[in-house]
Amino acid sequence: MDTKRRKTLAVAFVGGIIVMMILVVGTIFMGQRARNNTEQAVRSVSLLYLDELAGRREQVVSKNLSNRITDLDTALQLMTEEDLQDKTHMEAYQTQMKRLFKLKKFAFVDESGLIYTSTGMQNDIDQYGFDYNSISGPEISIKNLDTAEKTVIIAMPTDQTLLSTQKRLVMAFMEIDMNEMLSGVSMGNQDNKTTFSNIYTKTGIALSNTVLGGLAMEDNLLEALGHAVYEKGYSYDQVKNDFAEGRKGVVSFVYEGIQETLSYVPVEGTDWMLTYLIRESVITNQIGAISEDIINSSILQSALTVIALLSIFLILFAQTKRNTQLQIDMEKADAANQAKQEELEEKTRLQEQLMEQQQILSDALDAAEQANKAKTAFLSSMSHEIRTPMNAIIGLDNIAMNDPETPEKIKGYLGKIGSSAEHLLNLINDILDMSRIESGHMVLRNEEFSFSKLLEAINTLISGQCADKGLEYHCHIQGQVDDYYIGDNMKLRQVLINILGNAVKFTPQGGRVALEVDRIAELENHSTLQFRISDTGIGISKEFLPKLFDSFSQEDSSTTSKYGSSGLGLAITKHIVEMMNGTIEVESEKDKGSVFTVTVTLMNSSRCDQEEEIEEIHPSDLSVLVVDDDPIACEHAKLVLENVGISAETAASGQEAIHMAQLRHVRRDPYNLILVDWKMPEMDGVETTRRLREIIGRESAIIILTAYRWDDVLDEALAAGVDSFVAKPLFAGAVLEEFREAWKKKAPAAKNASIEADLTGRRVLLAEDVQVNAEIMLMLLDSWQMKADLAHDGAEALKLYQDHPAGYYDAILMDMRMPVMDGLEASRQIHASQKEDAAGIPIIALTANAFDEDVQRSMQAGLNAHLSKPIQPELLSKTLKSLIKA
Ligand code: ADP
Repeated sequence: MDTKRRKTLAVAFVGGIIVMMILVVGTIFMGQRARNNTEQAVRSVSLLYLDELAGRREQVVSKNLSNRITDLDTALQLMTEEDLQDKTHMEAYQTQMKRLFKLKKFAFVDESGLIYTSTGMQNDIDQYGFDYNSISGPEISIKNLDTAEKTVIIAMPTDQTLLSTQKRLVMAFMEIDMNEMLSGVSMGNQDNKTTFSNIYTKTGIALSNTVLGGLAMEDNLLEALGHAVYEKGYSYDQVKNDFAEGRKGVVSFVYEGIQETLSYVPVEGTDWMLTYLIRESVITNQIGAISEDIINSSILQSALTVIALLSIFLILFAQTKRNTQLQIDMEKADAANQAKQEELEEKTRLQEQLMEQQQILSDALDAAEQANKAKTAFLSSMSHEIRTPMNAIIGLDNIAMNDPETPEKIKGYLGKIGSSAEHLLNLINDILDMSRIESGHMVLRNEEFSFSKLLEAINTLISGQCADKGLEYHCHIQGQVDDYYIGDNMKLRQVLINILGNAVKFTPQGGRVALEVDRIAELENHSTLQFRISDTGIGISKEFLPKLFDSFSQEDSSTTSKYGSSGLGLAITKHIVEMMNGTIEVESEKDKGSVFTVTVTLMNSSRCDQEEEIEEIHPSDLSVLVVDDDPIACEHAKLVLENVGISAETAASGQEAIHMAQLRHVRRDPYNLILVDWKMPEMDGVETTRRLREIIGRESAIIILTAYRWDDVLDEALAAGVDSFVAKPLFAGAVLEEFREAWKKKAPAAKNASIEADLTGRRVLLAEDVQVNAEIMLMLLDSWQMKADLAHDGAEALKLYQDHPAGYYDAILMDMRMPVMDGLEASRQIHASQKEDAAGIPIIALTANAFDEDVQRSMQAGLNAHLSKPIQPELLSKTLKSLIKA
């Protein structure tokens, strides 16, 4: 690459020099040619004008001479007779003329050739060269031609006689200085020293004393020209002859190496020649200088041009080189791009393929999801469709079983119906659980629970089953197991009961079932618990073991009929354990028995004692309201609850339930629990709960009863104030369990929520017409260190209230039946009065007739509570504490 570049540069350099040389030589040649041409042109022009210029000057000279002749004539005519009287007079006249015409001499010549000047007489007529006796007209001659002091003599014949001497004067002449004569002709060197004008005699003597503009060494022009070298077409003889014969002409020659061109013209009236000389050498030199200048600047210009061209060439060369490099780079990039493009196209193609496949997969997934949704929807509705009639079956079965009139034989049938129904229900529950797990709807709770209570409940159930079946059951706890843990109590219980249930199911009479619990590790506030469930049952074959936890898998299809199982239990169990991040393992030997090991990690609880347990719930203390539009469901629920000693009331609609709960609320005897069916016409369970909560606050637990899956409405239901859900058909155990949970949660909240007022020093207005009752009440209030004003009827109560400022009374205890104005009317008027506290003052109705209608009416009158007589002091105190502002 580098050598190539050097080569190119060398070529450029040599090329540049050659071009420059061509330009220089060309320029010089052109300059030379231009110079020759210019010289030629100048000479042509010179010759053209030389003749003209010489002619002009000749005219001036001949005019001068003729003027002088005229002057002489004029002077002669001015001469008077007096001037001729004598010499003296004549000399005076001569002097005058001499001065007038600027003459060197003004003289007369007599017949004898004697010259009469203004200063005396001379006899040197020979010097003047005139024939004074024969002169007939004006004549011009030169005196002292051979010397430097040449003068021009102009003579004229005259005929006068000097009177004093009687001498005849035949000729007059005047002598003029040569310089004076030639003035105005510009004979001398010109400023530019290129043109010279002169006058010569025909013999070549210069009147102005210089020959060839002062160049010639000779005094005579013709003599000088004899030494010149003539240009083509000119000759010395030609000049000589022309001069001799008084002919005008032109001659070009080289004298002493200098080129000159001379034009000559005869001066009229004389034998002189006027010459005009052009010194061409000077012009040529000047032209040469100009030409040299031109050439030099041309060379400089050429050099600059070459340099500029060279620079441009170099720039272009560099540019080209860069372009070439760019081109190469671009080609390389193009090639790379091409490769990339191809790669990209390949990638795009693969991606498209992938996307197609993805689309197929996504479609398949959509279809699968659709199918799954359909399955979930189907399971959900199936569960409802089956549960609803099951509800009736189990309900009616229960009612019939409890009917004392039912014969024993029928009771046997009814018992079988009942257990079949229960089995069916378990199956539905399993299917629902499975669908919940699959749809991701199953969530784990994270709550503190009593581990001992969990084991107790499990043991109670399983030991009962074992006893029924004639099996031995043991439960051992090893290691440090705490009373409380945090986790999902219900799910853990479901897992253990499932496995233990299987153990019971698949162990024949006389066998043994055992549960061993061990804490195998504790780390960072977490405990790992291991549950080992063993049985001496039929065992599981090696072939079936790997499929054990699959859905709907059973070792032997006869199991279903024989043991009443679905094959879902262990699948659900495994899912739940895995959700808890635990493990489940199994070891089994056919006909020997099986061992299931479940390991789960639970969070430790700070709580360790059992005493702090929330007040124990005694079923007999509970009052429950069951709300269901289905009368059979209501009846069944009532029966189930009463079987475990819980008293229950029923309402056939949400509206009725609200009404009943409100009455209880006002009577200060709320339900502990309200069980509300979810699906009801007009007002569903969630809406009923929302309205109930508005009236009764959180004083009752509300549990929704449903045959549907509730996962989808869970959030909305919880927001409405629902505490929990229980599946239909109803079992007392499940209700109690959920109620306990709800109560546990509610208790601390309830304690915090209502800040009870201190009754000490508070003032009430008591309206009571029966004196004994009034006294008992006053004593009661006094025992709580309360102040009380007594009114004997409604009107008096109203007046007392109005007479005192707002806030004077903290509450009003109002008997309903009073003379003058009853309690209802008084309450109404108090609430309607203009006083500031009129709307807010609590009024508590006291009445013997605790019929619902009374309560209804007092509620409508805006009373806050309704207590029935005889008044229970504790209830009154509680009511006052909650109604009076703290
Ligand atoms: P189900 O018990 O409802 O049929 P499971 O998933 O709980 O469903 O059990 C699946 C199968 O596993 C049972 O049908 C049974 O064949 C076998 N199996 C489970 N536990 C035991 C056990 N302790 N002893 C023997 N076989 C068992």
